[in-house]
Amino acid sequence: MSVDSTVNLEDGMQEVTFLKTPIMATYLLAWMIGDLEYIEAYTTGDFSGEPVCCRLYAPIGLATHGRYSLDLAVKSVEYFSRLFDIPYPLPKLDLVAVPDFSPGAMENWGLITFRTHAVLLDEHSTNDRQREIAATVIHEISHQWFGNLVTMDWWSDLWLFEGFATHLAYIVVDELFPAWDVWSEFVTRVQHVLKQDALRTSHPVEVGVANPSEITQIFDEVSYMKGASVLRMLSGWLGEDQLLKGIRKFMMRYMWGNANTDDLWMTLAEECEADVPEFMRRWTRQTGYPVLTITEIDESTIMVRQSLFLSTGDIREDEDDFIWPVPLALATAEDPTPKNIMMTTKELVLKVDTTRWYKFNMGQSGFYRVSYSSRALDLLGQTLKSGEETETLKTADRVGLLTDAAALVAAGVSPTSSFLTLLKYFEDEENNLVWAEISLRLQDLVAVWLEQPTPVVNAIKEVQRRLFKNIVKRLGWTYPEGEDPAIGNLRALAIRFAGRAGDPEIVAEARRRFVIFMANRDTSAIPPDLLFPVFEIVLKTTTGLEEYEAILAFYRETYSPGEKVVALTVLGYGNSPEMIQRTLAFAMSEEVRNADILSALATLRSSVMGRAELWNFMRQHWDILYERHFDDLRFVEYFILFSIGMFSSVEKYQEVQDFFANKDTSQCDRILANCLEGIRTRILWLERDREDVEVWLKTNGYLATTSLEEIGKSESSVGGMMAIATEEDGQYVHHPFSRRTSPVHAGHGLQLSLAGLGRSPSGSSVDDVLSPATNDTRHSVPSATSSCSSSPPAVYLDHPEHQNLNHLYHTHEHQHHHHHYHHHEHSQEHGHQRQHREYLQHSFYQQQEQHSRSQIYLNESAARLIDERFQLSQQQEQLHKSGAVLSETVTAAPGVVMNELMTMSMAATTMGVTSPQVMTLEGELEMLRLGGEDDC
Ligand SMILES: [Zn+2]
Repeated sequence: MSVDSTVNLEDGMQEVTFLKTPIMATYLLAWMIGDLEYIEAYTTGDFSGEPVCCRLYAPIGLATHGRYSLDLAVKSVEYFSRLFDIPYPLPKLDLVAVPDFSPGAMENWGLITFRTHAVLLDEHSTNDRQREIAATVIHEISHQWFGNLVTMDWWSDLWLFEGFATHLAYIVVDELFPAWDVWSEFVTRVQHVLKQDALRTSHPVEVGVANPSEITQIFDEVSYMKGASVLRMLSGWLGEDQLLKGIRKFMMRYMWGNANTDDLWMTLAEECEADVPEFMRRWTRQTGYPVLTITEIDESTIMVRQSLFLSTGDIREDEDDFIWPVPLALATAEDPTPKNIMMTTKELVLKVDTTRWYKFNMGQSGFYRVSYSSRALDLLGQTLKSGEETETLKTADRVGLLTDAAALVAAGVSPTSSFLTLLKYFEDEENNLVWAEISLRLQDLVAVWLEQPTPVVNAIKEVQRRLFKNIVKRLGWTYPEGEDPAIGNLRALAIRFAGRAGDPEIVAEARRRFVIFMANRDTSAIPPDLLFPVFEIVLKTTTGLEEYEAILAFYRETYSPGEKVVALTVLGYGNSPEMIQRTLAFAMSEEVRNADILSALATLRSSVMGRAELWNFMRQHWDILYERHFDDLRFVEYFILFSIGMFSSVEKYQEVQDFFANKDTSQCDRILANCLEGIRTRILWLERDREDVEVWLKTNGYLATTSLEEIGKSESSVGGMMAIATEEDGQYVHHPFSRRTSPVHAGHGLQLSLAGLGRSPSGSSVDDVLSPATNDTRHSVPSATSSCSSSPPAVYLDHPEHQNLNHLYHTHEHQHHHHHYHHHEHSQEHGHQRQHREYLQHSFYQQQEQHSRSQIYLNESAARLIDERFQLSQQQEQLHKSGAVLSETVTAAPGVVMNELMTMSMAATTMGVTSPQVMTLEGELEMLRLGGEDDC
């Protein structure tokens, strides 16, 4: 809260009294003491009665980098005051940039904490970073109302508050930055969760929560993004205005208290006079989503059938009895305005002119996939290619067509060639989001085909090269002043994908720029957006160590956290056995923070050699790794994922099974099952469509017909696969790869007739596990290790200038002298602080490198206090006491349930039960963005 009064005491101390904290849930209470500086701005007060003071606090020397976020904060406070028709509920709003903060951000009431990365922009920041920051800041500010002023009843309602915060953030970003086309971006983000939710191991959006460990495990992308998607469907159905009217009523009714999911549905139902509860429950309480299969009966009639979509493609009849209410949003060539038909039956016959294009899920706000006949898909493709309907088939619809087609191919519903053919219609596409999807879907394919004979792999690379080369030709390498950021993104994407496919001109240009850049850090040679592509291309196309050394030196030298992540991540693209070994050793060395190890390893799996070595490394060091990181479940999960998650051969499947057969996998059985299921899915895809792809490559001139014999050799692995499915004791052996061959496969590829064999328990595929979480996915989880949930009630000191803490910075020696970190303006600085600013900045970045020193900004005594009282694993007695005191303190508060859970979490820790550590989400995102895909 804001300062109420300050009294100067005789001994030179000051007594500061703060305004009374309003009633709130305990998990939202936060306090912070530190040597920080701030910049501030006020809202106009038009909607808040009087202007609200918004401040951005950051470590000394960095506050000005928060100008962008502060402006966003002011605008969003005004926006939400108007949207909810409720003034901002507190007298002030502080945003604090905290180094080494575990979650991306946390919406503590009036004191939102962020990782520095998630709130500060520097001159090395890419355009994407601006968008991410906007999404995060606005999301957290929406929680000040939706989440804080009205708080969830219990953790099972978390999805609703997170889903809505995500949804609302998109509405506001779209309003503030219409050029960003965020709703199209939303459609691309939803793809990850569509993948994840197409597995039998997925879970409903709404699930019961009985203990703290369930919270971290369940609240994943499904809760956030499927939640947000379903709300978007609801918005489409009711109309956004109606929905917001209902929300306003809900806020008024439950403000300063708790509410659950049904409370909201009932309020919306009253306001909108629609059966909201039934619609929402069908989507939130059922795992998975439907695919609509369109059958053309004649030239004017189609039949639509909905059934559960599984990426393994092996749905059983008894799994397919659920009916979702599906908003069809059907557009046709005659009437491109989508018709809002709600499908509430298994099948539906519609009148549609099938000689011209038609499209379902227009605008892509529905959470489902559509399987068209090849003729209908072709008509849509031709329409796109001709450009006549670019106004009608907007970015989101083009992304939808592509991603649906790709998903149906991977699930074996249609042959891979149909996707490759569809790609040809996109040659003249200009939108960066559509191209980003094309690149990802191609990478999925390449990942599976990577170990195929060289001519085939080269032919697929040629497809990729031709697609992306043209864009580079058109856009060049330079970033003109004032250019649309979307064009800049597209340029970087095209250079990366044409370069990684080995285009000689692009490789040569990347190498030329690399030399200039490394000679004297000439940043004009490599603009920020191109740093990753250029480093990657250079490392991939060399076997000498010179470039590797140069990038490593750059990693050690740069102060920019963004640049550091890039340098560390690209090391895994090293092309020789020596580089791979060095990357492995370096990742595990003291030089790399624990939180960054995974970034260094993520990219290793992109090459056949890297995958193999990572797998060897894991096997050799398993016991040590497992022991050392046992308490960090996510680390172990990711390590397994990176080591085995990209395999797509029978041999590797067996190796993995054999290796883990006699290991204790109790902490990682889920990820293991997921990975094995992923390998199985890829093997099946390959077996099914290997021939289909080769035929397509030849027919389309990417593969010479003479290499046929060479390709024939690869058939041997099919024999190996079939050999596993043998009969034993009159029964089929339990066989992990078996599946029924569905009729749709007839006529293409190899047929596997393993009907009736047992199936292994399914799991999510590797890519699904990898799907990026929203910025603050686990921010409000009461993990025993997260500071926000274990903080006791206390005051928050608004005035860091009263704390003279500089000596803390000086306790750390500094070895580097490259001060190329500049800033552009001065902010609130005080005397000696300014003098030492550069030195402190420098120290600050050094601190960032040193893991577990995240309390650097804290007053020594405050740090000791926290250590003594609240560091759970160390002071268990104290902990119990704190928990008990806390319980008493807040029994009367509405957030008492949170408190109970928190106490449970503490107790769990004291009893030695390890709760999964909240991983640095921002780091995860970075890792996923940079190295999360496979490549060739
Ligand atoms: Zn949130």
